[in-house]
This record gives sequence, structure tokens and C-alpha cells, in this order.
Amino acid sequence: MGNLMNERLKGKIVAITGGARGNGLATAIRVGKEGASVFIGDIDEDALSEALKQLTGLGITASGRVVDVSNISTAPQFMSAIVKEFGRLDVFVNNAGASRPQTFPYVTEDMWDWTMDLNLKGAFFLLQEAAKIMINQKSGSIVNISSYAGVIGGLTSSPPYAAAKAALVNVTVMAAAYLAEHGIRVNAVAPGIVNTGFHDVVDKVVGQDQLGLKRGELMKNKAKSIPLFHRMTEPEDVASTVAFLASSDSSHITSETIMVTGGMKTL
Ligand code: NAD
Repeated sequence: MGNLMNERLKGKIVAITGGARGNGLATAIRVGKEGASVFIGDIDEDALSEALKQLTGLGITASGRVVDVSNISTAPQFMSAIVKEFGRLDVFVNNAGASRPQTFPYVTEDMWDWTMDLNLKGAFFLLQEAAKIMINQKSGSIVNISSYAGVIGGLTSSPPYAAAKAALVNVTVMAAAYLAEHGIRVNAVAPGIVNTGFHDVVDKVVGQDQLGLKRGELMKNKAKSIPLFHRMTEPEDVASTVAFLASSDSSHITSETIMVTGGMKTL
């Protein structure tokens, strides 16, 4: 039993977008500790090199590349960089994403486009490129990072974000149906309120500026209503679920969205 965790993803090549921080970095660390080599992409060059230092410091074979997933013309280069580095791609984690607060009556076309390009369009075309590699290999696992906001709906701080993440659940079902005959699984993880820098903007704009709360208080208050342990989801909770979906432990699971929310049922 002792070495099982270290061996589960031995020799696998795992690529993760938005891998420099938060859920993406926690996932890179987790799959790396399970024996995978990782390739991370991120828009933030400094954070990317810090993350690569951290990963290699942990003894994980890691490489990466700056990428803006919203710019879909770069998706083919991103994928070919992975194959050039490692020769194949076993797992693709479509994780890069962000949200900016703008409530329903105030949503602008610019905000709609920015949010959709990042959270949906980018994810779709990267998935398409990853699938091309995996079809040739006749195997692979793709994990899309959706959100509880896309599953539950309701009073979200960003309707375009909730719409994009809901669409990503359906992209998961569609891609899983198409790719099943090629031996490729496609699943999604829908995290709840995760303890990452993702909330910094909403914390500043809504928590501090609008509600006069202290830094970090908005999400901490929300987390009190989470049934399980009354705490935020940690990035490691998301990472362990992604690692499960990446591994052969989930070999007959495809097209599913697993919620990692501590039982949260409302926004
Ligand atoms: P985070 O802000 O900590 O990390 C996101 C990473 O993505 C950052 O390193 C950032 O530089 C990178 N990134 C942003 N835009 C990019 C772009 N255009 N191209 C490439 N990289 C880009 O946030 P996180 O919480 O780790 O979020 C990761 C995923 O989890 C996102 O898809 C997010 O929507 C999802 N999610 C987060 C939460 C949460 O509560 N934190 C909840 C549900 C879903």
C-alpha cells in the first residue's frame, strides 16, 4: 500500500493550463508526486517560472510554456511543445480560468467576450488539440475544470462565468461521446469555493469596497455555510479528484462532472 500513491501515474505525461497557481499548481504537485511528468502553461511568466522551480525542487520532472488560452491560435503550438518535450500526452487538464464580478443587469459585451474566450472558447479549442494527439495514441484522459457556479446557477457575481462553466459541462459530455471510441475519457470537476487567489478581485470589489469587509472575509463568511467542516475547499481537494480522473482508477468513468464543494447546494 505504501508506494501505491507514488506509482499510480508513473510515466504519465500530464499537461495543465493555469498551472502556475491555485488548483492548477496543486494538481501539478499531486500528479507529480504520483509519478507523472508535468507540463504547465500559464499566462503569468514569473509565476510560471516560480512554479517550475517549486515542482523541480520537489523532485518532479516539470516543464512549461507561457500561454494565453484565450488566444486560440496558439493552441496547436502549445500542444506541439508538450509532444516535443515529452513525446506524448496522456492527461490534459483544462484548468486555466478566471472571473470578474459584474452582476446580471450590468454585464457588458466586452465582459461577456473576455469571460467566454478564457473559460469556454480557449478550453474547447485546447481540448480539440489535445484530442488530436490522444486519438493518434488511442488513449488519454481529459479533465475540464468547471465550477459549482456552472452547475447550480443562481445569484452569481458573474453570469458570463456561470454560463461558460455550464457550457463546459456540456462540452465534457459531447467530447466524451465523440472520443469514447478512441479510448479517450473526458470528465469534469466542478469545485465549490476554493481557497486560491481566484477570489482576490471579487474580494476587493465586493467584499472590501462595497461591503466594507476585511481582506479575505467575504469568502470566509460564505464558507461558513458549507455543510462539510464549514471550510473552503482546498486546492488539494480539487487536485486529488483530478488525479483520480487522470488515473486508471477511473478507467470506466467518462462524461461525468464531479462536484468538489463540501456539499454546497446554493450559491
Ligand atoms: P487562480 O487564480 O489561483 O489560478 C489561475 C491560474 O490561471 C493563474 O496562475 C493565472 O495566471 C492563470 N491564467 C489566468 N488567465 C489565463 C490565461 N488567459 N491563459 C493561461 N493562464 C491563465 O485560480 P484557481 O482557483 O486555481 O482557478 C483554476 C480553475 O478553477 C479555473 O478554471 C477556475 O474557474 C476554477 N474554479 C475555481 C474556484 C475557486 O473557488 N477558486 C471554484 C470553481 C472553479
